[in-house]
Amino acid sequence: MSASSSPPAPSSAGPPMTVPDLRMTIGGRRVEAGDGAVMEVTNPYTGEQWATFPDATPDDVDAAVGAAGGALAGVWRDTTGYERARLLHRLADLLEEAAPHLGELETRDNGKLLRETTKQAGFAARVYRYYAGLADKILGSVIPLEDPLVFDYLTYEPMGVCALLTAWNSPLQLLANKLAPALAAGNTVVIKPSEHASTSTLAFAALIERAGFPPGIVNVVSGRGTRAGAALVEHPGVDLVSLTGGVDTGRAVASTAARNVTKVLLELGGRSPQVVFADGDLEAAVDGVVAGIFAAAGQSCIAGSRALVAADVYDRFLEMLEQRARAIRLGDPMHPDTQMGPLANAQQYERVTSYIREGRRAGVRLLNDGADAADDATGDGKGDGSGLFVGPTVFVDADHSLPIARDEIFGPVLAAWPFHDEAEAVTLANNSDLGLAAGVWTRDINRAFRMSRALTAGTVWVNTYRKVAPAAPFGGFRRSGVGRERGVVALYEYLQTKNVIIDTTGHRADPFTVRS
Ligand code: NAD
Repeated sequence: MSASSSPPAPSSAGPPMTVPDLRMTIGGRRVEAGDGAVMEVTNPYTGEQWATFPDATPDDVDAAVGAAGGALAGVWRDTTGYERARLLHRLADLLEEAAPHLGELETRDNGKLLRETTKQAGFAARVYRYYAGLADKILGSVIPLEDPLVFDYLTYEPMGVCALLTAWNSPLQLLANKLAPALAAGNTVVIKPSEHASTSTLAFAALIERAGFPPGIVNVVSGRGTRAGAALVEHPGVDLVSLTGGVDTGRAVASTAARNVTKVLLELGGRSPQVVFADGDLEAAVDGVVAGIFAAAGQSCIAGSRALVAADVYDRFLEMLEQRARAIRLGDPMHPDTQMGPLANAQQYERVTSYIREGRRAGVRLLNDGADAADDATGDGKGDGSGLFVGPTVFVDADHSLPIARDEIFGPVLAAWPFHDEAEAVTLANNSDLGLAAGVWTRDINRAFRMSRALTAGTVWVNTYRKVAPAAPFGGFRRSGVGRERGVVALYEYLQTKNVIIDTTGHRADPFTVRS
């Protein structure tokens, strides 16, 4: 593994980009934190601190929730679906234009490849467009009751003020999954991005204004999860909390929200298996496993962090995987040839390397040890980077009770095991508290259907991995979450059902029995 040394290309070492306005947006105004507190933004590749952003106080959060509540009651509640669709389309246009700039902000913030962050911003634009198409198609229904003169209809209303909290690994894409259906459904929102990657979301707020959304519909506060995030989740003016984050945060957020009986949607972690059968295309499966765990340096909720491989092809598979892993180019995330950038921050680096150290201490066989990856900011071989590189790492045949076999590591660390038949593959694959995604590699169509049914996961990919679409619902089984994002189903997460019964019979009924 080495840092890239290809010809000049967009580079983190190049001229500094223009830093956009990174203040918060509350009721249409750009504001600093009430107490002036700020947090620093560090480029995980160069180690350079290049910006600050506000660390909101609980009072700032209160003002944002107040602005969202006021805007809902004032203008937004009666806005037509057609108007919401028009604004969302305009926002999608602006986001498409701004994708390269916002992608660059994200790369300098979380170290993800520029080509990935730019593509994700483009994908986010498609998500806004998808929900723009649904905004004026929220249809109610008529429910036939026994008496035709009693008219029952069902209609959908927005939840109200939604708190949207996102993780640092894909800020704009994760936000689109929440904000697009929330706005299409007629809600107002307060957004709180992760303190580890807030810049793209804070800058994105300017597009909301340019798209023509009235002030107060979309508010953005930034800062620590334990201060701004907690104040938002416990605020009685919030009607729905949607979080993307870790399982522990999900538990804390759900229990805080329960105090106000606030609805929660949770998109949490994963420990997803990729199951490779001997009848599958082995080359494609190796590609899929590499993409699943080493893309984004494994810092992805859908990381396919467990490879379960048919015993007949296990050795061959590991050989091919090792070769592929060794060839992965680490380096500047801005450079188009780079395949893995640094980890996103020092805390994340410590987390991932401590798992690797623990696996080593337990004596687990390692195909590739990424903890000694090249750490080279400029590609001159001097190891002068920020120190946050971890290379592709593969543990083989680890004891299933070890943390490296069970936990979500959220880094480029794969664990591999053999299986002897389909039943064992299913048992191993489902041996997790988490159930976000799973991959299956087989050419047998019957097996593909059987496995898809047997796996405990919100998404099952067959002969592909990491494939997403605005129309395809996404979310977790078991501890991986509650609710779904994307697709038509997610729109209804942001709506509440109202049933109306109109009695036109004029009959008088016994007041002391239920009127059925
Ligand atoms: P995190 O749980 O630390 O933080 C997520 C968000 O919650 C941040 O905005 C944070 O500030 C906020 N927060 C933290 N503590 C809070 C509290 N007590 N009250 C209110 N808000 C609080 O997660 P992270 O480190 O940013 O992201 C990594 C995790 O996110 C991984 O577990 C990953 O699997 C998960 N994730 C899930 C999905 C998905 O769609 N299922 C997508 C991306 C990431």
